[in-house]
Amino acid sequence: MQRSQPQHFRNRLLTPIQYVKGVGPKLAKLFEKKGIRTVEDALYFLPRCYEDRRHLKKISELKVGKKETGFGEILLSGVAFYQNKRRRVFEAVVGDGSGTITLKWFRGNERYLRDRFKKGRKLIFSGEVRWFNYQREIHHPDVEVVEGDVEKDYLNFKRIVPIYSETEGLYQRTLRRLMKTILDGYADELSSPIPQEIIERQDLIHFSEAFRRVHFPPEGESIDRLNLQRSDGHRRIIFDEFFFLELGLALRKRGVALETGISFKAEGALAQKLLNLLSFKLTRAQQRVLSEIQADLEKAHPMNRLIQGDVGSGKTIVALLTCLHVIECGYQAAIMAPTEVLAEQHFLNLYRWLEPLGVQVALLTSNVKGMGREDLYQQIRDGDVQLVIGTHAVIQEAVAFHRLGLAIIDEQHKFGVIQRALLKKKGENPDVLVMTATPIPRTLAMTIYGDLDVSIIDEMPPGRMPVETKVFPESGRAKVYRMVEEEVRKGRQAFIVYPLVEESEKLDLKDATRMAGHLKKDVFPEFQIGLLHGRMKSDEKESVMMEFKEGKIQVLVSTTVVEVGIDIPNASVMVVEHAERFGLSQLHQLRGRIGRGHYPSKCILLAQYRSSEEAKFRLRAMERTTDGFKIAEEDLEIRGPGEFFGIRQSGLPDFRVAHILRDTAILIEARKEAFRLVQEDPGLVQPSHAGLKQALIKRWEGRMELATIG
Ligand code: ADP
Ligand code: MG
Repeated sequence: MQRSQPQHFRNRLLTPIQYVKGVGPKLAKLFEKKGIRTVEDALYFLPRCYEDRRHLKKISELKVGKKETGFGEILLSGVAFYQNKRRRVFEAVVGDGSGTITLKWFRGNERYLRDRFKKGRKLIFSGEVRWFNYQREIHHPDVEVVEGDVEKDYLNFKRIVPIYSETEGLYQRTLRRLMKTILDGYADELSSPIPQEIIERQDLIHFSEAFRRVHFPPEGESIDRLNLQRSDGHRRIIFDEFFFLELGLALRKRGVALETGISFKAEGALAQKLLNLLSFKLTRAQQRVLSEIQADLEKAHPMNRLIQGDVGSGKTIVALLTCLHVIECGYQAAIMAPTEVLAEQHFLNLYRWLEPLGVQVALLTSNVKGMGREDLYQQIRDGDVQLVIGTHAVIQEAVAFHRLGLAIIDEQHKFGVIQRALLKKKGENPDVLVMTATPIPRTLAMTIYGDLDVSIIDEMPPGRMPVETKVFPESGRAKVYRMVEEEVRKGRQAFIVYPLVEESEKLDLKDATRMAGHLKKDVFPEFQIGLLHGRMKSDEKESVMMEFKEGKIQVLVSTTVVEVGIDIPNASVMVVEHAERFGLSQLHQLRGRIGRGHYPSKCILLAQYRSSEEAKFRLRAMERTTDGFKIAEEDLEIRGPGEFFGIRQSGLPDFRVAHILRDTAILIEARKEAFRLVQEDPGLVQPSHAGLKQALIKRWEGRMELATIG
């Protein structure tokens, strides 16, 4: 029997790190802590920063008040006592012939320190230089113990040195030595088969070379650019990540365009009937988006379109008109919403409009149970129901459509690509329309929704009233109540919203429930107070929503179930309790519930005084602007793209080095090149693109189907 040896790994980059010379099982465990399992992982483990050791300063030149790096030999070390022996401090005096400096440790294991910093050892150290008792000293410096001949140590000295993120037991010098081994042994295996033409146009360096330079920068490299991750090496690696992402998206987009879909040709009689029923006229933006959709519908390829429009811009009616077009052609349509409350509201609203048109619409949520559910399934299967509105329940396996022609997803940012695909599968290449109120910065939209066509409703229905936002501390509560009272006396309605805290849904529930009781009894005895939360049965929820809509309830206390989509034009004030606990986008969504009618509205953010700096920043941003776009950008800045979108749920490959916000310029270039390439060679069939195709499949492995290739 053959023993398993490293060379047996066909793709050498997947060699477990343990088999790298000098690593072994012990260090491999430590690497694993850093998420590094294979040689490839290690190559992508880039330095967190760089230190310029091309010319080390003499100790005599180290300046007080600055962060400096020096090199010397320990002349003396041990414990010193201060404050009448009450305080033990470990000290090491280091000299290099030009002068001395004292390194001090106020904490730490004394035995370990003694052991590591013995007299005669050579050290490289860095930290802020202080002045004490007429001497220079550094407290808790970053230290590397130097072994061997410094003059010949070209890994740790006389160069720009990479600084990695360490873990206990795995220190800089070891890391550098092993990274060097790995680069020497494996860097050549790295490949990024981007066509030569693009390499030249984009002025990209060789891929393996990029890794070598990023780990061990050449002499002349700019330390600033390195630290900003802007060196040529960084750029090459980042370009690679973006390019393969965009190539996948470009192919997917093209693939959808190539599928045969249904060409919906309707006279538009149904839609016209609805328009006659409406009490308002569509805005120009709505009309434009509708005509873009219209064009898609008529094409014999499936539509794959995103409507982006700020909260309240009127996406629902556009969706409905689209449904009518498809229904007129004898097909079914489905609208999927992220919450039951929202699905129910859509149902109530649309039902009102559809009934006079004689269109059969049904609500399908997990609350439809038993016989009713079986009945409904049957009606959907038989095509008796023309429009299905629902939650995730719509994509359950048991649901089968007679002829699904159109799938709409509302508040798309709450769903992932997978759900989109599942809904699409309910028909045979139905048209797909997704809607979102999260205004995604353009460059980001390119990656997240890179395979969609985008329509933007950039205009609010006329007569919208401004919403004024103000933050109040707890001490202002009485005043806040008076403001609510004032509005309600004028005939308006109010929302009072409680956050959902993850650890304890029960607690909030109690909060909202208790608060509703308290308000009824002690604060607004004359008003009708309602309560709405996610755990109520759906008919209860429905009736509360109904009563609020009809004005029977004047103050609605609720959890965040009202966050998306709810539409009550008469509501002119919203109080958000514990506003400091909400994210920016969430606050913006909430605020979108008011200012929908003819009344100037107020959004009151009640915040606890001990809010974090970040929370204060968020609340101030809310006071400053009502522009959803600006808010999204600030939010993105605060949280980073991963959290902002849940990149993972979006089904896109992760980036190991690239950062969507920081590296936007590179992203745009990579996208341009990828789309151009797909236009020229849509199937990646040219022989010169064989390697490219292979690499692409590997990088997108298991993430999604790339319809046209492989
Ligand atoms: P969102 O884009 O946030 O989903 P909605 O579709 O819920 O917004 O629309 C918000 C409100 O504006 C609804 O009451 C809707 O009937 C109304 N609306 C939509 N379009 C217009 C319009 N063109 N003129 C006046 N009101 C409109
Ligand atoms: Mg909506």
